[in-house]
Amino acid sequence: MLLGGHVSTKGGIDKAVDFALAIGAEVIQTHPSPPQQWQPLRIDDSVVDGYRAKAAAAGLRGHWFHAVYLINLATRDSTLLKRSTGSLVSYMNLAARLGADGVVLHPGSHKGLGFEPMLPQVAGALREVLDRTDSPARLIVENSAGQGGCVGCTFEEVGRIVDAVDSDRVGVCLDTCHSFANGYDLRTADGVDAALRAFDDAVGFSQLVLVHANDSKIELGANRDRHANIGDGFIGREGFAYMLAHPRLHDLPWILEVPGEGNGPDLIQVNLLRELAGLAPATPSSLDGVAR
Ligand SMILES: [Zn+2]
Ligand SMILES: [Zn+2]
Repeated sequence: MLLGGHVSTKGGIDKAVDFALAIGAEVIQTHPSPPQQWQPLRIDDSVVDGYRAKAAAAGLRGHWFHAVYLINLATRDSTLLKRSTGSLVSYMNLAARLGADGVVLHPGSHKGLGFEPMLPQVAGALREVLDRTDSPARLIVENSAGQGGCVGCTFEEVGRIVDAVDSDRVGVCLDTCHSFANGYDLRTADGVDAALRAFDDAVGFSQLVLVHANDSKIELGANRDRHANIGDGFIGREGFAYMLAHPRLHDLPWILEVPGEGNGPDLIQVNLLRELAGLAPATPSSLDGVAR
């Protein structure tokens, strides 16, 4: 089991390694460019070399990118679709340069057009991304929380998408908050068992590569995406302890995307997850080897 969190790239992508060490993260997720903008990725080879050296020195065990939020593969707007696929290709290529493991994305919103009519386009766009890059990174579809016209909210939709793409270069990320928002009750052992059975039926655990560990500020089934710190939301500690121990989830990387004290996942949240998983607490460190 590998536990970590989403960290900042402020000051350059290599800084993500320092942030990881500071919060005791074994694995990380980053936004390599601002997620609210279509900004071309410009990362010099010297930064790539610096990142690789630091990641190796730190013993970082995994790194996933989160795609920009503007991506919509279910849109009728051809410019937006082109930007979306182009952005994913550039992220996949950067992942190859850095040795990162994958790119996590939300397929987008059909805005009333319907899931079925837009599924071929969504799957075609993901195939196009894979065809345009030889990156070894995985292209990872995350289940979404369920705001209007959402594509890939239910496990059934996620399963249909990855089945339609039909490539071993595609994987799935399971977000606990988003699952809860879609009515999968993760508060109890019975609820988790039922949700994971539904996931296995619809998607299959062979596709699952990553867990996003987030509690929910909003009640079960409300289709709203508000992440809470672990134990402070409606899912609660018991649900997370059971999920962390579950054989289907135990060996996966877990990435926190929680608010922490306001700056995102921190040492307290990483260590709470470690405690619930029955692991010894992490100690913050830096590449000088000096504990802070
Ligand atoms: Zn997530
Ligand atoms: Zn979310």
